[in-house]
Amino acid sequence: MFADVLERLGIREHNSGVFAGRWLPAEGRAEIESLNPASGELLGRAAIASPADYELAVAAAQDAFQQWRTVPAPQRGEFIRRFGLALREHKDDLGLLVTLETGKILSEGRGEVQEMIDMCDFAVGLSRQLYGLTIASERPQHTMLEQWHPLGPVGIITAFNFPVAVWAWNAAVAAVCGDSCLWKPSQLTPLTAIAVQKIASKVAQDCGVPCVFQLCIGDSDVGQRMADDTRLPLISATGSCHMGRSVAAAVGKRLGRSLLELGGNNAAILTESANLDLALRAVAFAAVGTAGQRCTTLRRLIVHESIAGAFVDRLAGVYRSIKIGDPWEDGVLVGPLIRALAVEQMLAALKRAQEQGGEIVVGGGIVDRPGNFVEPAIVRATPDMPIVGEETFAPILYVLTYRELEEAIAIHNGVEQGLSSAIFTDRFAEAMQFLSPAGSDCGIANVNIGTSGAEIGGAFGGEKSTGGGREAGSDSWKAYMRRQTCTLNYGDSLPLAQGVEFTV
Ligand code: NAD
Repeated sequence: MFADVLERLGIREHNSGVFAGRWLPAEGRAEIESLNPASGELLGRAAIASPADYELAVAAAQDAFQQWRTVPAPQRGEFIRRFGLALREHKDDLGLLVTLETGKILSEGRGEVQEMIDMCDFAVGLSRQLYGLTIASERPQHTMLEQWHPLGPVGIITAFNFPVAVWAWNAAVAAVCGDSCLWKPSQLTPLTAIAVQKIASKVAQDCGVPCVFQLCIGDSDVGQRMADDTRLPLISATGSCHMGRSVAAAVGKRLGRSLLELGGNNAAILTESANLDLALRAVAFAAVGTAGQRCTTLRRLIVHESIAGAFVDRLAGVYRSIKIGDPWEDGVLVGPLIRALAVEQMLAALKRAQEQGGEIVVGGGIVDRPGNFVEPAIVRATPDMPIVGEETFAPILYVLTYRELEEAIAIHNGVEQGLSSAIFTDRFAEAMQFLSPAGSDCGIANVNIGTSGAEIGGAFGGEKSTGGGREAGSDSWKAYMRRQTCTLNYGDSLPLAQGVEFTV
């Protein structure tokens, strides 16, 4: 099934998993299997990087960096422009492969590739806007300026749920900044990474530039090796808080830089004044979309007690009507979870929620068919239940109630993660209170839209245990460069700063 799509993307039954300036042979290496989570069928196999392969990939990233850093930034942008065009050509095939490998519905699979394309467009513009400052000097005939230089090979570790877009957030920006990249994708989604690498290396070849993107497939061992590797000055890691703690400690130990995009436990406050029809759609998409497997998935709904009963009834009706099934089929809104373990984790979380006093309103069962399908669940809960503070990467929505907005904001902020947040209200004062310094403590705060589905123009990321990193838009490019402050003396005397005298 879908063999033609795999073939067009260059995916075979056995695939090399390492690009180190060229594809390394797959023979003689251990392999990982990529399974379609909707059917359990084998999509293909990818060879895992051995320690020697890893060394070759890092060396290739270093070589590419030596050349790439001196290429003028707008020319680097031209490579990314051409890469964006190639992604447009492959959008449908690559979008379908994302769907086949992750289980997200087809419009989301294609949307993920569109996000890569948008990121390329953004980075092309950025390639002419890597601005520094000029600064007034306190000394006569002196001027100060700040310039930005390429940083070095960037290590990119990605999660399964956005198997290609998150790499593009990093790689497109890093490339125009003059960096090379070494990518370790999730071991659950190797084939999308291989397909993207094939597109990128072909574009580099056509443009006559070194391929600044290298690939190293493997499990967490490869990620750990990257975190320890002083040749990678920046590690950008996306995944669970558990992974982030390990990566941050390893990178911190060698005084490297880390950019962390970790787990979320996102909440929305639904006030009495909210447009409930709008909120219903927004909550359903944010809680159920991608089968609850987005970092920005809505996991806690904090509803004013006067409207909670009626709203939850309506929401439960929507949940019952949602079509669950093969994610490539029209009309399906919920596909499978990534693997059997994720199903087990969802069931275990629901059991714990009930033991802690929660009540399942709807859903929570396994769908009787092949693949890792579950029914999205709504659970009436209280903020003191320990399970409500955890990110279970599955479609479970905890409904909590409140009386005063201050109480709702305290519940909202009362978890260790700080990624995305929303308020639904038609009262200006409530919206502003939520966006004020005393409001949401998250990196993303929305009014009258859900917690998921961010655009690439804004800096994306979260606070607290979400890791503090920012990627994609705004000035997040600065993370991929090194800043240099320069003082230039165009006079013939040597005045010292702060009035210091040193006559020799
Ligand atoms: P995961 O933490 O299991 O794995 C993520 C990546 O880290 C994989 O490539 C994995 O091999 C690697 N890894 C795991 N342990 C490592 C270690 N000790 N050292 C180095 N690398 C290691 O996460 P997942 O299950 O693939 O993805 C789901 C998680 O990712 C959720 O918590 C979700 O919220 C989070 N996520 C966050 C964002 C964001 O932007 N904040 C985006 C997507 C996913």
